Amino acid sequence: MTDTVRKDLVIVGGGPAGLSAAIYAQRSLLDVVTLEREAVGGQVILTSEVDNYPGVPHADGFSLVDAMHAQATDLGAQVVMDPVSSVERDEATGRFLVRGASACYDCASLILAAGARPRHAGFEGEERFAGHGVSYCATCDGMFYRNKQVFVIGGGNSAAEEALFLTRFASKVTLVVRKDHLRAQAAVVAELERNEKVEVRLMTSVVSLDGGELPSSVTLRDNATGATYVETYEEGSFGVFVLVGRTPETELVRGLAELDDAGYVLTDERMATQTPGLFVAGDARAKPLRQIVTAASDGAVAATSAAAFLGRPVEG
Ligand SMILES: Cc1cc2nc3c(=O)[nH]c(=O)nc-3n(C[C@H](O)[C@H](O)[C@H](O)COP(=O)(O)OP(=O)(O)OC[C@H]3O[C@@H](n4cnc5c(N)ncnc54)[C@H](O)[C@@H]3O)c2cc1C
Repeated sequence: MTDTVRKDLVIVGGGPAGLSAAIYAQRSLLDVVTLEREAVGGQVILTSEVDNYPGVPHADGFSLVDAMHAQATDLGAQVVMDPVSSVERDEATGRFLVRGASACYDCASLILAAGARPRHAGFEGEERFAGHGVSYCATCDGMFYRNKQVFVIGGGNSAAEEALFLTRFASKVTLVVRKDHLRAQAAVVAELERNEKVEVRLMTSVVSLDGGELPSSVTLRDNATGATYVETYEEGSFGVFVLVGRTPETELVRGLAELDDAGYVLTDERMATQTPGLFVAGDARAKPLRQIVTAASDGAVAATSAAAFLGRPVEG
């Protein structure tokens, strides 16, 4: 039988949103634990270079979140490796039961900061070149492809919009679309057609990426005929952006919070959900920009709201 640990607040997820929430919760002297499933730092530890976090002009992702983690633990925050498998709410008491692998946590308030995973395209070489020629975030990595060629995989609105965004940096953007049409808004499609840097290849899939340290060739398939062909480039002179959607980690609160069609949690500006005491911060919630800075901001707001909910306003 696993132990039950009683807490004021449990934070699920040790990425930038969770760590920022831990810092703010700690400063209001809440009895709080942050639970992490895989690696403290979240998606950021996969990022070799972060150039857009204010005050830290150049950082590798690991160092940035390592500093956040150290700041939280220096303030006394408890960050525990424990994957959460379920969250239940006792209707009578309003308390939450958070089931981890090593303990159950009984808490008055809960912050879900479990993020969203970018979906993979599944071609050969995708894992090998992730962060070194394969990217999942145009906003984050676009500037590293200045005057280089990029392939964008995806046929939806965000892939089309991000392909347009990438034309600010890249010399050429090839949008690789598996089907015979784009699923983007007509205005966005028209803009793609007008842009001289953009080539749209319908009925095409990326089969594999090959090279040395960085990719130097891409194998594509014509889905109409099944024929494959290889394009070769100078090593490091091109990249592939995989923009085929994200999967929000929100199943834990399904039924407790309202989700949008894509599965993101709808919150108000205090990060509150429809369930009293349940807050959601970071990439897991519905919002226009998913970045480290917005995740950290959400975490701060969520912890402040949780403290207010618990009658313990955060000290400035
Ligand atoms: C390749 C890549 C490059 C990026 N580059 C940049 C950049 O340069 N600049 C920038 O600002 N943003 C960048 N981003 C976006 C940024 O990483 C995210 O916006 C940010 O990490 C979101 O923080 P978060 O805390 O909400 O979620 P995450 O970072 O995803 O953290 C969520 C954490 O919750 C944990 N978790 C999930 N489920 C459970 C569970 N059941 N139990 C316990 N723990 C759980 C996960 O393991 C994870 O550690 C990049 C993203 C990617 C994928």
